[in-house]
Amino acid sequence: MMLSRSRRSFLFSLGAATAAPTAAMAMAGEGRSEGSAQVTHAGEKYIHPRKVLLWQCTRKEIREALESGRLKAAIVPTGSTEQHNEHLAMIHDTASAVLVAQNAALQLYPQVIVSTPVPVGISPHWMERKGTLTLRQETFLAVVFDICESLKIHGLKTILILNGHGGNNGPLKSQVARWREKLGIQIETHSYWEAYTKENASPYMQSGMAMIPGHSGEFETSFALAAFPERVHREGVDYSKVRLNLKSPKDADDDRMYYNDSLLATAEKGEALIRIAVDWVAKKMRQMIRQS
Ligand SMILES: [Zn+2]
Repeated sequence: MMLSRSRRSFLFSLGAATAAPTAAMAMAGEGRSEGSAQVTHAGEKYIHPRKVLLWQCTRKEIREALESGRLKAAIVPTGSTEQHNEHLAMIHDTASAVLVAQNAALQLYPQVIVSTPVPVGISPHWMERKGTLTLRQETFLAVVFDICESLKIHGLKTILILNGHGGNNGPLKSQVARWREKLGIQIETHSYWEAYTKENASPYMQSGMAMIPGHSGEFETSFALAAFPERVHREGVDYSKVRLNLKSPKDADDDRMYYNDSLLATAEKGEALIRIAVDWVAKKMRQMIRQS
């Protein structure tokens, strides 16, 4: 799908978003060409978006950044691969966490690197809906811990685990103090939507603040329309004909509610909300680096 001119300029104004890959893309070695196509026309301050993505760097780049002391901290994005109603791609939570992390890291370049994201989360509650993948809690936590330990071995002493999936949030928060002690480094974990307050986000949320992050409703659909509209698929969707056969009537009601809320989504709301999250994460990283 071609990006419209306005979408493209939003993504470039953020700094990097067109090159923000999902974990699936990262693993497939895919990349999109829009970011690199702009490099030759960009000003001196332009930083190629791959430079803050660990998996897109060479060992030479990472080694030199560490040895020079320029690179001080890492962000580990965590997400999910799970159903996102009829119209959003399964990778949404991973892709959104990566996008926020990458753009925050670009604000702080060259101090922050974004690790390869954890693309599957704790999603047993969505297993009735087709396509969802889930990890057992202990598997997920073990993977995140091992990534943090790997980063520590390379000399990084400040890590923010930036989460994009609700089901990961509690388990991560329950472990972080233990991990901090075990690894002897500074580790924090936040879901990126902790950036939102009544003051900064309610003007964009017709469905109400309680619907952040929600699930494929106004918030997430707006985010996707702004950041990766190619992952929103309204074509052929007729919710009145959807038969999910969910066991719980409440689940079915909630699913319909999220769908109806998603119809309130706009790219403009998404742009505003993404900027808030990126600035919040950048500020958090600045504080963490100052304290290290
Ligand atoms: Zn989601």
